[in-house]
Formats: sequence, C-alpha cells, structure tokens
Amino acid sequence: MVSKVLKNESLFLDLYKIDLATAEEYRQKRCPYCQGPLHYANYFRKPRGEPDGVPEEYFLQFSLCCGKEGCRRRLIPPSCRFLGRKVYWYAAILTIVSDWQNKIQNMTISELARKMGISSNTLKRWIHFFENTFPVSVQWKKIRGRVSAIVKNAHLPGSLINFYLQQQSNIEKALISCLKFLSQGSEISQKIRDG
Ligand SMILES: [Zn+2]
Repeated sequence: MVSKVLKNESLFLDLYKIDLATAEEYRQKRCPYCQGPLHYANYFRKPRGEPDGVPEEYFLQFSLCCGKEGCRRRLIPPSCRFLGRKVYWYAAILTIVSDWQNKIQNMTISELARKMGISSNTLKRWIHFFENTFPVSVQWKKIRGRVSAIVKNAHLPGSLINFYLQQQSNIEKALISCLKFLSQGSEISQKIRDG
C-alpha cells in the first residue's frame, strides 16, 4: 500500500520545507493585482491523517498579505501539503485513492476507509473528485503535457503515483515528486474565506 508512507514523519518535514521555499519565493515577488509588497500572514490549519507527534509548525498554512493600502489581498502560494480547503493532507488523499484504484488487497471502499480511519463518504468524495473534477481542472491541464503519456487521465492519481514509483527508489520520494509536480499546476491564489 502506498498509504503506509503516511506513517513517516520525514514525509511531513520534507513537504513542509518545500512549501516554505515556495512561499518565500512568492513573498519576494510583488502582489499580482497591484504590484504591492507582500508580507507573511500565516495561520495554522488542522489537517488530518498524519502520524502522532508531528511538530505543530508543519501544520502552518503559508499565506501572504499585500501591504498596499486599498488592496490588502490575502494570497495563498501553491502547496504540496494542502489540496484547497480539503481537511486531509494532500498526501493522504493521493495515497489512499491510489490504493483504492490499484485494488490493493481487493478491499472495498468501506474496508479501505475503515483501515485508514476515515469515513466511507469522505473516500467516495475523493474518488469522485479524481474521476470527475480533477482531470478537467485548469491545474491538471496546465501540467498534463509535462508528464508521460503512460499516465492515464482516467486513472488519477494512481497512474501518476505509479509513474513516479518507477522513477524513484522508494514510496516517500515518489510521493514527494508527485506532489511537487502537482503543485506546479497551481498559481498563487486569493484566500477564500472559510465557511
Ligand atoms: Zn495588492
């Protein structure tokens, strides 16, 4: 199962470092709306699916605030850890859906959900998202051409993870490459209010 990688604290450290570097890269640019200076306005999230004892700083959502009066937009840089406002870590969503698609131990949706400690409805929503929404999304269309045709749109994200598993020496490295690649499809975006 590729989802066994979710037990590795090192995965969460590496993803945090990648997001930190990306956030800093964007902070040094100007506001895309008004060219004003950008400052950090980070906040903590409460994602689910990590091993016990992961340091709190890994939960930090990097966020930027435009310093120009009259704009003050809140902006979210691309992330390898979070998929929009979804509650679970992006790594958890990708690996659990991938295990289901790859028919690991022929588990049903409810069996796999129970094993991973998530609800069946949550897993069904993720599967639906990858079958219907993700393949036609702007983010995916932007990067689709940069990866091998072996990767099948009808079998995402399992097909993409399998592709990286062939390139890398272990699951953790493959998943990190996969998440880095996926984050390239996103641009800095305006923060949407929770609700
Ligand atoms: Zn601005």
